[in-house]
This record gives sequence, C-alpha cells and structure tokens, in this order.
Amino acid sequence: MNPKLINSIEEMSTIRRQLKGKIGFIPTMGFLHEGHLSLVSAAEKQSDIVIVSIFVNPTQFNVNEDLSNYPRNIERDIELLSNMKVNYIFFPTDEQMYPEGFKTWVNVDKITQVLCGISRPTHFRGVTTIVAKLMNIIDPDLMFMGEKDFQQLVVLKQMVKDLNFRTKIVGCSIVREEDGLALSSRNKYLTNEGRKKALCLNKSLLLAQKLFSEDIRSSNKIISQMTILIEDNEGIIDYIEVIDQESLEHISELKSGCRIALAIIVENTRLIDNIKII
Ligand code: AMP
Repeated sequence: MNPKLINSIEEMSTIRRQLKGKIGFIPTMGFLHEGHLSLVSAAEKQSDIVIVSIFVNPTQFNVNEDLSNYPRNIERDIELLSNMKVNYIFFPTDEQMYPEGFKTWVNVDKITQVLCGISRPTHFRGVTTIVAKLMNIIDPDLMFMGEKDFQQLVVLKQMVKDLNFRTKIVGCSIVREEDGLALSSRNKYLTNEGRKKALCLNKSLLLAQKLFSEDIRSSNKIISQMTILIEDNEGIIDYIEVIDQESLEHISELKSGCRIALAIIVENTRLIDNIKII
C-alpha cells in the first residue's frame, strides 16, 4: 500500500474532514523500528484508516540534549510504512508546528515532575503540547502508544481525560530484541560494547521480577540488587522507582500489578525501560 505523504497542516486538516470510519493514529519521531511498527499493526487491526505522524519535536528536548543529533531517515521510514496498511503519513515542518510567536503550552501537573521529569523538567510539556496539536489536526478515534515510554502514556491519558479529547489511547506492549533490549531509536548511539552493557536494563527488571517471585517485597531491597547489577555493567543510574501504575507514586512494598521504571545512562545515552510486576 502506498501511503499518501502530507507535509502541510492545512492539507491534513482538509483531508481529515472528508474521512469516514474509525481513524487510528500513531504519533512518532521517526527513525522507525519494530516497536513503532507494532503500533501500526495494532492500528491496522482496530481502525479503518491509519495515520502515522513523523515529527522530531524540538520542544521535548532539554537545552543540554542534542536535538540536531537525533537519528532521522525519512526515506527509510516511508519505505517501512509502505509495506503496511498505512493510509497517510503526516510530516509537518518545525515552522508549521511552531510558527513565530507561538506562546501556548499544555502542561499536566505533578505526574510530569517525577521519574523522567526530574532530569528532563520541560520534556513532558513539549510532549503534551505537540500531541494536543496533532490530535486537534487529526482528530483520531484511537491513538496507539507504547508502554516503553510508560510515564508518557500515563501523562497523555491524563491530558486526554482532563481536556475532554474524544480520542481513546491504546497502550501497546514493549517490543524487545531477542536478547531483551527494548527497541529504541536511541540504541543507534551505542557501540557494540555499549549495546551489551545496555542489556542491564532488562536484566535488572527481570531480576526484580525473580526476587518478587521469591517473596521479597521491599522496594529498597529489590532496588539495591538491581543497582548492583546495573553498576557492574557500568550503567549510570538516573532513577529506579517502584511505582503505582496509575498515580506513578512511589510504593515501598512491591505488589502484583505495580511497575518498576528506570532510566540508565550507558555511554552517554539515556535509556529507559520498565516492567509490570506479576
Ligand atoms: P518515539 O518515536 O520514540 O517518540 O516513539 C513513538 C511511539 O512508539 C511511542 O508511543 C513509543 O512509546 C513507541 N515505542 C517506542 N519504542 C517502542 C518499543 N520498543 N515497543 C513499543 N512501543 C515503542
């Protein structure tokens, strides 16, 4: 299937108004991998029309993060999406999304100030603002998002509820390499050696699940075991937190259904991952 390429907001809005049926939308920053494509597959199954956006959103990068270095390959992205049932690819420019004089921000309180929000204080404001804009242009029935960015998923569900968007957010499972590394566009920054070290994210989460299965419940005890494993692999810990899935609040005793989320720096690359404890 050859998706129609659209790079103007006006064209996208005009086309959208003429579309009938259930619209499934997948917002991405491009440099697509199987994780993104799993969202497209879910959208194919649950919608009549599939729209993917590709936009490297400058406002979700902190000043010290290298936006210009973020991996991009639009030709390859288009090719990958052409092999799937995607109807439209929307890739607006920075100037269109943030024209001169842009002043309005969407901000979700509290749950954006924990976990990733501590080291990336303006990140979620950028995410909620761009997704609100994209949702206004595309007005999807369903929006597909990965649990890989678990905090982002919770924050956007909150935004949709608070601002009365009619869109339903569908959370999709994390796609991993065979050895357990969660797929991420940022994995490209890692050397072969770094990639091996990065396995400590998933390994430490699996260790937590194992300890839970052995009846260890203390978050502190489990986090200290995870810390040893990560530091043995030269990972630098930004945070490891045991959290309630909905409130994102820290919990001191693990229970079935809670999440463990972490951010680890490997070779200067900040990687995130999480697990639902069962
Ligand atoms: P990004 O392009 O990094 O902004 O990601 C776009 C969407 O793809 C987000 O909803 C992510 O959560 C999702 N995503 C990224 N990596 C994965 C993965 N390994 N498994 C599932 N979803 C993912």
